[in-house]
Amino acid sequence: MDNKKHKTEDFSQLFDMFCEIADTFAPCMKDYLYVYNLTEDTYYISEQAVDRFLLPSNLFQNVGDVLSVLTHPDDIDMLNEDIELVMAGKKDFHNLEYRWLGRDGSPIWINCRGRILRDDNGKPQIMLGCINEIGNKQKADNISGLLGESAMHDMVIQQLPTLTNAMFLRVGIDDFKVINERHGMEYGNYILREVASRIQNCADSQQYVYRIVSDEFMVLDLSDSDYNKMNRLYHQIRSSVDELVASEQYKALYTISGGLVALEDIKASESEYNRYSEIMKTSEFALTEAKLRGKNQLYSFRPEEYTAFLRRRYIRSCMRKALSDNFRGFDLHFQPIIMTSGEFLFAAESLLRFETPTGEKLSPLEFIPILEESGMIIPVGRWILRNALEMCKRCREFYPEFMISINFSYIQLLKSPVYEDVMRALNEAELPPSCLIVELTESGHLENSSAIQSVWQKLRALGVNIALDDFGTGYSNLINIGNLRPNIVKIDRGFTIKALHNKYEYELLLHVIKMVHSIGLNLVVEGIESRMELMQITAMNPDYIQGYYYSKPCPKEEFIRKYHPDSSRTSG
Ligand code: C2E
Ligand code: MG
Ligand code: MG
Repeated sequence: MDNKKHKTEDFSQLFDMFCEIADTFAPCMKDYLYVYNLTEDTYYISEQAVDRFLLPSNLFQNVGDVLSVLTHPDDIDMLNEDIELVMAGKKDFHNLEYRWLGRDGSPIWINCRGRILRDDNGKPQIMLGCINEIGNKQKADNISGLLGESAMHDMVIQQLPTLTNAMFLRVGIDDFKVINERHGMEYGNYILREVASRIQNCADSQQYVYRIVSDEFMVLDLSDSDYNKMNRLYHQIRSSVDELVASEQYKALYTISGGLVALEDIKASESEYNRYSEIMKTSEFALTEAKLRGKNQLYSFRPEEYTAFLRRRYIRSCMRKALSDNFRGFDLHFQPIIMTSGEFLFAAESLLRFETPTGEKLSPLEFIPILEESGMIIPVGRWILRNALEMCKRCREFYPEFMISINFSYIQLLKSPVYEDVMRALNEAELPPSCLIVELTESGHLENSSAIQSVWQKLRALGVNIALDDFGTGYSNLINIGNLRPNIVKIDRGFTIKALHNKYEYELLLHVIKMVHSIGLNLVVEGIESRMELMQITAMNPDYIQGYYYSKPCPKEEFIRKYHPDSSRTSG
C-alpha cells in the first residue's frame, strides 16, 4: 500500500472497491467474501449469505449488534476475544471456527478468516476475508468413491428452482454396525465400497448416487421418474447386494432397506435450503420406517404417516418437558365405581390426563402408547401411584372402605420394580394394600412373561386387588382369567354396548357374569351412560357399575365435592 491509501477517506474508497470485487467473484464461489469497514462500522458480505444466515441484508451497519444475534450464543465470547486481540493490534489475522445461525435458527459451523488493514498509526481500518461452511468441506468420500452429502446439497439447491419432478431413494445397509463389530472396519469399508459400486451400476445416466452418512446412500433421479421406476431400481439394488452376500460365502449377512420420497410430496417453502432440509428429513423418516417395518424392504413416503410421526414426536417432547418440570401438564381424573346393591360409592378409577403447553387436551389413547414406547410410563407411573394413593387417603377420611383403582401398563411391569414401588408408595401413604386395585390390560405379553406372572403373584400375596381390564375385547379374554387369577373382571364398554343391542351378546354377558361369580370373582360393568342401560345391566346382577351415568372422570376436587357426605349427593 502506498502513502495515499493511508488516509481514512481512502479506506472508504478501498472498502467500496473490495465490495465490487467481492460482488464480481461471489457467483463463482461457494464461500462468502466479506469486507468490514471498522471506522464506519459497515459490513458487506456476498449476497448468497443472506439466503443462508440470519442476516438483515448483505450490507449493514451496527455490526456488533448484528453479530451478536447472528452468532451462536455459546460462541459469542470466543468471537469477541478474538476481535479484541485484532483491534488491540496483537494479531493481524483472524482465523476462527465457530457457529452462525441459519435463517431457521439452526447452528451452522463456519470458518471465518480475514486480514486487517491498518492506517499509518497502526489503527485497524478494514478487515476482509472469506467465510466457508466447515460442514461443506467433505465433498467426496474416499471409502465408497462417491460424492458426499455436501455435493448432493449443492446439486439439489442448484436444480430446485426449475425442478417439477424428482425422486429421492435413500438406501441403507441393514445392521451395518454388526458387520463392523464382527469382521472389523476394513471388511466394513470393503462392503461399503462394493455396495456403493452396485448401486452405481444399477443407476441409469439420469440417476446420481451419493454417500450421505456412514451406511446410507442416496439415489437422486432428476428425470421424469415415478414410483414404479424407483421401486424397480430398489429391487435391482437389493438383488445385486444379495448376490454380493452370496459371492462372499455368506461371511456377513445383511440386507438393504430403502426410503423413497418424491419431490411433489415435499411441501413448498420460500427457501431452497428449507426444501432441501425437508427432503433430507423425510427421506430419513422413510428409511427408518422401512427398517422399523422389518428391514429388507422399500417404504414409499406417505405424507399422512409423516404427519402422524411428527405429532407423536411433538407429544413426546411435550411430555419430556413436563417430566423435567415437576409433571406440569399431567393430571389425574377420577371416575366413581358404584356398588350395584344400594348404589354406594365403592372405589374410583384414576385416569391419566395430559395437556400440552398450548392447552390442547390429549386423549390417553393417544399419549399412553407414546409414554410406553419411550419408557416415560415408568416415572409417570410412579407419579400416578403417589397421587392416586394420596386421593385414596383423602377419600378414606369420609369413606373408610374406599378403594382406588390404578391402570398399570405392562411396560411398567416388565421394566420397573413395580412390587417395590407399590410397597413404598403404600408405606408412604400409610395405607393398607387392600385399598389398592391394580388394573391391567392383556396385551399379548402377559401370559408368556414369567417376570410379569411373578410380580403379579407377589402383589396378590401382599393383599393388593388385581383387576383384569377391558374384558370382552380382543385383548382380554377367558384365558387371562386363568393365567392372571384376578379378583375383579372389568367388562369393557364395547362388550356392554353389544350386550345392550343384541340378544346373543346379552346372553353371553349374562353367562360371563354367572361364570365369574361361580369362581368367586367380582365384576365391574363399564360404560353405562343412561338409566335405561343401568336397568338392563343391573338385571344381570353385576357387582359394580362404572359409567357416565354416575359421573364422567373428573378432577380430584370435583370428585370430593360430589361424593363428600356433607354435600347434597352422597352416593351414586
Ligand atoms: P380404561 O382403563 O378401560 O378406562 C375406561 C375408559 O372408559 C376411560 O377412558 C373412561 O373415561 C371411559 N368411560 C368410562 N365410562 C364411560 C361411559 O359411560 N361412556 C364412554 N363413552 N366412556 C366411558 P379414558 O380416560 O379416555 O381412558 C382410556 C384408556 O386409557 C383407559 O381405558 C386405559 O386403558 C388408558 N389409561 C387411562 N389412564 C391411564 C393410566 O393412568 N395408566 C395407564 N397405564 N393407562 C391409562
Ligand atoms: Mg381401566
Ligand atoms: Mg376398562
